[in-house]
Amino acid sequence: MEKKCKKCNAVKDVSEFGKHSYSKDGFRYQCKVCLKQYRISNKEKISSLVRSLLYLRITKNIAMKKILPLLALMFIITTSA
Ligand SMILES: [Zn+2]
Repeated sequence: MEKKCKKCNAVKDVSEFGKHSYSKDGFRYQCKVCLKQYRISNKEKISSLVRSLLYLRITKNIAMKKILPLLALMFIITTSA
């Protein structure tokens, strides 16, 4: 049995498609090659997102370390006055 990949439009044997219980014919719409490609690009997207989140967390920590003493100082000044 052959199936056309929705992504690359190549007609391949169903063995080249991953199984998918939700689709009509029981196979994925994308061939294994496309799925692998998708996973790789998604992995990069996810890892770059994680990297940026980690970066934000680090910079936030640095900012907090610098801002908190200032806030504490301002609090002391305003309450003692
Ligand atoms: Zn494909």
